[in-house]
Amino acid sequence: MPGTATANSAVIEISKLSTRFGEHVVHAGLDLEVRQGEIFAVIGGSGSGKSTLLREMILLHRPDAGSIRVLGVDLRDIDDPAALALRLRWGVMFQHGGLFGSLTVMENVGLPLREHRHLDDAAVDALAAQKLALTGLDPEVGEQYPSELSGGMMKRASLARALVLDPELLFLDEPTAGLDPESAGEVDQLVRKLRDQGGLTIVMVTHDLDLLWQLADRVAFLADGKVAGIGSMAELALMDEPAIRKFFHGPRGRAAQEQQQSASPQSENLRSPAWKPK
Ligand code: ADP
Ligand code: MG
Repeated sequence: MPGTATANSAVIEISKLSTRFGEHVVHAGLDLEVRQGEIFAVIGGSGSGKSTLLREMILLHRPDAGSIRVLGVDLRDIDDPAALALRLRWGVMFQHGGLFGSLTVMENVGLPLREHRHLDDAAVDALAAQKLALTGLDPEVGEQYPSELSGGMMKRASLARALVLDPELLFLDEPTAGLDPESAGEVDQLVRKLRDQGGLTIVMVTHDLDLLWQLADRVAFLADGKVAGIGSMAELALMDEPAIRKFFHGPRGRAAQEQQQSASPQSENLRSPAWKPK
């Protein structure tokens, strides 16, 4: 079937990407590949273009030049039916949840099914309940409204909605930002569970060093409009690139690295202080 990625192939291919806002150059010939089945993270300083890159991958922003292929489909000049077909193959968890405040959690999670699948109400509710359970939410939470949820529950509900169409690709924008350490640890476990179920490719933007060290297979470090380095966290930590060295050898990066190196099973749930870019 055309447009279907096979094992070990690239599910996202970005070539010579350029993005400007007026005179401000955000991406200047950026190249990147995300492989089938990996947990891929994008990191870099504030304003380095991480969120914009994510928005470009999911058809929310149009680059000025270069190409992006997602699941084998070129996003340039994509028509509406093709864009819709593609949107149904990925799930997105936005940083602030993006749930509709006027709908219950259950209605929010079921919404993509109602819009895109020909199912009766009972079938929609059953599938939505299944995703709530997968993300560790009690069935009662389904009856609540987003404003009644804690930050951690909101992230779970939004993840349940992102997964409801059983996507091939999952995009996470700062999945643990703003959460207390315990809730952040629970999100880690959830991402790990999704990874272990297999099949899903996950792309995330995060500052969370625990997520990065424990779960990311590969990490791309953005600086000066390009990928300044790419590899596992351990590989990045050895790179000579000044921006990357600053990230790893600043006080917070070093503390997290040391904690990682001395990590025992018991310390797995200890979280390092969140790294904030300058
Ligand atoms: P990051 O997520 O790495 O912090 P962003 O991708 O959000 O960075 O933004 C990269 C740069 O582009 C920043 O300087 C930001 O101010 C600018 N930018 C992002 N979106 C817009 C926009 N819609 N209009 C103008 N400038 C923008
Ligand atoms: Mg951002």
